[in-house]
Amino acid sequence: MSHERFSFILQSSRMLTARVRQLDFRRADGAPLQYAPGQFVTLHLPWDGMELRRSYSIATIPGSAAEVQVAVTHVTGGRATKLLYDMTPGAQLQASGPFGRFMLRDDPPGRYLLVATGTGVSPYRAMLPQLQARLAGGKHAATLLLGVRGPDELLYGEDFLRLARDNPAFQFIASYSRHLSEPPGAHERKGYVQEHLLELNPDPQRDIVYLCGNPDMIDAAVERLKAIGFDNHNLRREKYVSSN
Ligand SMILES: Cc1cc2nc3c(=O)[nH]c(=O)nc-3n(C[C@H](O)[C@H](O)[C@H](O)COP(=O)(O)OP(=O)(O)OC[C@H]3O[C@@H](n4cnc5c(N)ncnc54)[C@H](O)[C@@H]3O)c2cc1C
Repeated sequence: MSHERFSFILQSSRMLTARVRQLDFRRADGAPLQYAPGQFVTLHLPWDGMELRRSYSIATIPGSAAEVQVAVTHVTGGRATKLLYDMTPGAQLQASGPFGRFMLRDDPPGRYLLVATGTGVSPYRAMLPQLQARLAGGKHAATLLLGVRGPDELLYGEDFLRLARDNPAFQFIASYSRHLSEPPGAHERKGYVQEHLLELNPDPQRDIVYLCGNPDMIDAAVERLKAIGFDNHNLRREKYVSSN
């Protein structure tokens, strides 16, 4: 798949939670963006005579009416945050992509452990149809763990709960670092996502672990997983680090 530069037009935007805004783009030239679920786009944003480059995972569920949805966490004082939160429908920006190798692969039977903090869950939302197809084959299982502060931040939770309801091979766990619902739902736990990952007894012989979002969470999880035998063939990561 080639990387190209193109213009995006903002179709619509809305707050998904108090700290996350979803932006729906389409290409200005009308061409569909060809990408694989799990990939990201880079937005080229004018700032103070410079060009900021900021990457965002594509959150669109393939097959839905939306073209390119991204979910942007509000970063206080963040430059791209300000530009993107202030954008109004019809505005255009430069973008390039798709990029990245954080995708499902042609893996042997086993269990996927899909771990995210906050908007790090976007690539897994884009993977939902692929996951569903893989689980239907009967040889794979998947558990998705999403770490956020509390139930009001459960990004795209309904999409994951729906798959869990329809598919016994899929489990969804919400890890809340600050507070639980009252009473907590069966999928909700208090604590950090990396602790709940270890409670699932990850097994390097059968599990493949995907980690996306906060770099500190990813480093902490990788250290623990490597200590029990995981290596680069069954650990896949996408760190949401800031550039220039
Ligand atoms: C491959 C990739 C995919 C990404 N996908 C997404 C995505 O889907 N959604 C998303 O919201 N972000 C994503 N990011 C992060 C995103 O690209 C930006 O870094 C983020 O939006 C902050 O940019 P900014 O210009 O607003 O902040 P900046 O102006 O760069 O930073 C302002 C200050 O905030 C700090 N900071 C930066 N980011 C954070 C943060 N997340 N939390 C707390 N402090 C922070 C910086 O260190 C700096 O001190 C991704 C990054 C990568 C590399």
